[in-house]
Amino acid sequence: MNRRMYGLGSKRSVIREIFEFGKQRAAEVGAENVYDFSLGNPSVAPPQAVEDAIEELLRGKDMTALHGYTSAPGDLATREAIAGHICKSFGVPADAAHIYMTCGAAASLTISLSAICNAGDEVITFAPYFTEYKVFAETAGASLIALPSDPDTFQIDFSALEGAISPKTAAVLVNSPNNPSGVVYGRETVEKLAALLAEKSAEYGHTIYLISDEPYRELVYGGVEVPYLPAYYKDTLVCYSYSKSLSLPGERIGYIFVSPQAKDAEELYLAVCGAGRALGYVCAPSLFQKVIARCQGMTSDVSVYEKNRNTLLSALTSYGFKCVRPDGAFYLFVRSPEPDANAFCERAKQYDLLLVPGDDFGCKGYVRIAYCVSPAMIARSLPAFEKLAKSYGL
Ligand code: PLP
Repeated sequence: MNRRMYGLGSKRSVIREIFEFGKQRAAEVGAENVYDFSLGNPSVAPPQAVEDAIEELLRGKDMTALHGYTSAPGDLATREAIAGHICKSFGVPADAAHIYMTCGAAASLTISLSAICNAGDEVITFAPYFTEYKVFAETAGASLIALPSDPDTFQIDFSALEGAISPKTAAVLVNSPNNPSGVVYGRETVEKLAALLAEKSAEYGHTIYLISDEPYRELVYGGVEVPYLPAYYKDTLVCYSYSKSLSLPGERIGYIFVSPQAKDAEELYLAVCGAGRALGYVCAPSLFQKVIARCQGMTSDVSVYEKNRNTLLSALTSYGFKCVRPDGAFYLFVRSPEPDANAFCERAKQYDLLLVPGDDFGCKGYVRIAYCVSPAMIARSLPAFEKLAKSYGL
């Protein structure tokens, strides 16, 4: 067997262990007394339009067409609907011929990385980062270089980035709004990033691609702007997913948008098609391709997450915990009051608070709190957080 795959399959999953612990505790003390903040699984229902679209499609006459294969990169009408939405919302050129439908952001990322990278290449990202980036980059034959972010803001440390870009750099992978920090990169940051990548691409004589992983694009609070990267840097691939915006993580639906303004965009798109083929990711789920075509521009009720963020952020900071204010996604990345975040998570368990240590996100000394849970659970959990803070003398 392949030892690397065996290694990946057999490695213990911290989040899965926390989840199992939560189930066991729920059986002992009742589910309402266990505060599970471990998973990024939306608790808000998809918009009614999603349910309506499913019902209408299922009432249609041609079930063979509905459940049958679409073309390998996806149903043309769906890709046209997405391209139209991109043009209208972000004012950049887009067409169906540059959209590739996928099984969510995970597939969008593995396909994009495989389309771009050759053996020995490097992909740069910024810690804290989504745990699977390393696995995805290495599967594409590249290595992941994770640069620490500015510790006070979790924004890009540009001097670190400038020092890390080398002739081996194939791509820079960004995720804004970010899992797990909740931080959003503003316009100035994006302009600076675009200028640096253009300069370095010219210096090394090859394109350095920008991969924008954006499953949380619409989950922002207080009117914060999330700049659309293809408008700033032409060699961009957008890895999108409906898992969070429409609360459909189990349906596995998303897409890759290759900017038509990218250098050799047609070839790049064909490399995406080739990577999709090589990885077995042709024809994303047919029913949900058709559902999302009818739901462009819609989101679940994001105000629930905003309320949760506000409640949790103000309570936790009043108890003495430290956290960079998140403008988006549905996570708080809280500084552990002791250096070892794993020990902090173990202590939190004594209060039935299930948190995830930041180590797997490439950032020791922090914990992630996923607040995509019900507001009622947040309210019930606050006394436990207060006791936890007091146990540290905060
Ligand atoms: N990228 C980030 C930053 C994520 O947080 C997630 C899921 O939580 C993914 C990618 C994978 O998303 P999907 O479930 O759409 O594959």
